Amino acid sequence: MSDLIHTPHSASYSSVFQFSIRNPRFNNTSASRRPIAIITPITVSQVQSAVLCSRRHGLQVRVRSGGHDFEGMSYISSAPSQPFLLIDLINLRNVTVDVPTKSAWVQAGAVLGELYHSIASASGTLAFPAGICPSVGVGGHISGGGYGMLLRKYGMAADNVLDARLVDAEGRILDRAGMGEDVFWAIRGGGGNTYGVVVSWKVKLVPVPRRVTGFKVSKTSEGSLTKVIQRYQHVVDKLPDDLMIMLTLSRIDSAAAQGQTIIQAEFLGLYLGETESLLTVMKQSFPELELTEEGCTEMSWIESALYCAGYPKNTSYDELLNSRNSSSLQFAKLKAKSDYVQRPLPVRALQGIWRSFDQVEAGPPLVQMVPHGGRMSRISNSSIPYPHRSGNIYKIQYFASWFGEDKKVEKRHLHWINGLYRFMTPYVSNNPRGAYPNSRDLDLGVNDPVGRTSYKQARVWGEQYFKHNFERLARVKAAIDPSNFFRNEQSVPPFVRMTTGRV
Ligand SMILES: Cc1cc2nc3c(=O)[nH]c(=O)nc-3n(C[C@H](O)[C@H](O)[C@H](O)COP(=O)(O)OP(=O)(O)OC[C@H]3O[C@@H](n4cnc5c(N)ncnc54)[C@H](O)[C@@H]3O)c2cc1C
Repeated sequence: MSDLIHTPHSASYSSVFQFSIRNPRFNNTSASRRPIAIITPITVSQVQSAVLCSRRHGLQVRVRSGGHDFEGMSYISSAPSQPFLLIDLINLRNVTVDVPTKSAWVQAGAVLGELYHSIASASGTLAFPAGICPSVGVGGHISGGGYGMLLRKYGMAADNVLDARLVDAEGRILDRAGMGEDVFWAIRGGGGNTYGVVVSWKVKLVPVPRRVTGFKVSKTSEGSLTKVIQRYQHVVDKLPDDLMIMLTLSRIDSAAAQGQTIIQAEFLGLYLGETESLLTVMKQSFPELELTEEGCTEMSWIESALYCAGYPKNTSYDELLNSRNSSSLQFAKLKAKSDYVQRPLPVRALQGIWRSFDQVEAGPPLVQMVPHGGRMSRISNSSIPYPHRSGNIYKIQYFASWFGEDKKVEKRHLHWINGLYRFMTPYVSNNPRGAYPNSRDLDLGVNDPVGRTSYKQARVWGEQYFKHNFERLARVKAAIDPSNFFRNEQSVPPFVRMTTGRV
């Protein structure tokens, strides 16, 4: 058992703490914001004991699966007066695939690469619709929604969950029947570290053809980029469900740019079919992209997972088992923000994005468009907590990334992302302005550090993430965890009517 508990006095504490930090912005956080101990359970009963023991000793808990939280909420706290235990699920990552029932049980500490590897080892025609980056943890990812290249065909990862096992604040293990449909609804996207510790998910596997087609097309602002993006915005949510085209905008930082700002647009596509029919669709709907047969690569779904994640050609899919160590962004410091676009951005908005790219140095900023439409538009906006469905053309995400410890550099990058977010206000969804829960952004608002935030105060950020579903989430929270034991800076607080005037 002593191997599983790491205190600041243990030699293992720093390495265990830092191993799953995926935003090095928080590597050097002061000791007062770090856990007073880390437990790395190997059994579910040890998770139960950790929860009960923390409660008994007046400690908070934080739960970590893959450690990708953009604000580090799975392993640091902004309330030094609230000591906490970190339950790190790194040892709970078993995956059991059942091909006949097209389902899998996956323990929450597994990362997506491990899940994808297990599925592909069992079947060449099943997949799971989740994120692109294989090092993302299943625990946090599904707790906040989870999108990837199969989004338009099958919806979010959280739309494809059949059952779960949750350790609640009483230390009980609850499955779907035990927790009831309201809690089961809330944990599928209503935010992590709020209703309990999810120890495993039962996920629905989805059919994919033996061969799918991937493509990457690059355009720069030296060509007809604006025209291509304008067309993209008009068609991308209306394309067949089998086709997903994500777009990433960045700036070229190379000698070739010779001091000029050249904008690069990378179109990453995945089609659930063969090249020939893809080219027919593209010719009809999006000829401006000029996709050619040579630009397309047919492959299996699992090869497409490597392709979309940017692995070199011919990488074995066994490499996915090393996903925890191979995140390409692992060493960049990150800040993310998100919005939803409901009307195509006018040219002046695109030009404003281009101009903003001039404001920061290397570690170039990124803007990414994640198309919705397809199945996403046909799933009700109350089906799970994720509400941004019909009416959204795409989610737009802004990423600042930088290296090193220089605070001035950090300040410039944060200034860039805040300025761009302000600039985008008239062009994106409003009332409330939408935000993606998995692109956690503490600038939207934070809870009171000692857990006394009212539902009314939390609505400010809560409705940006969850819109009308926020109230139901707060009611579920009041039922499953009325003392607000599981909480962080942006967890949904319990909905309580109090005589003090709090709602
Ligand atoms: C490099 C990078 C790439 C990304 N790519 C994508 C992508 O393609 N698609 C996408 O949708 N998102 C993506 N994300 C966002 C990612 O989905 C979220 O950050 C997600 O919350 C990460 O889950 P995690 O388990 O890795 O993180 P963690 O930091 O471990 O957890 C995130 C939150 O969930 C809580 N939590 C974790 N595990 C549990 C559990 N078992 N039970 C209850 N609560 C839990 C944590 O306490 C924390 O609040 C990316 C993020 C990064 C940094």
